[in-house]
Amino acid sequence: MDEKCVFCKIIKGETSADFLYQDESLVVFKDIRPHAPVHLLIVPREHIRSLNDLQEKDKEIVCKMVVMAQEMAKKQSIAQSGYRLVFNVERGGGQVIFHLHLHLLGGW
Ligand code: AMP
Ligand code: ZN
Repeated sequence: MDEKCVFCKIIKGETSADFLYQDESLVVFKDIRPHAPVHLLIVPREHIRSLNDLQEKDKEIVCKMVVMAQEMAKKQSIAQSGYRLVFNVERGGGQVIFHLHLHLLGGW
């Protein structure tokens, strides 16, 4: 956990968020500034800075994040119409919150 990290604060319950799913390893909540009718963030509980910091031990959580995106797309009824999954990586890639997360965007 990183005390200054917004997503760690959400995960600890210190900052509110609109959660759609939570389990022992990841959480899903609505993006506060949506770029699509459906815009969810799939976030591991563990504080990992960015995709660049992934290690061998993280393979399982990344796989779980992608499978969760597939399930959330189905639940949000955007699976058939289609959706985008986005990892912004570091500042040049548009990352502003330095806690690994996967954007699920769709419903246009
Ligand atoms: P990124 O540019 O990939 O780092 O995306 C960070 C995302 O987090 C942005 O789309 C923000 O709108 C979103 N965000 C920032 N603060 C919050 C918050 N408190 N609750 C929900 N989403 C947030
Ligand atoms: Zn964090």
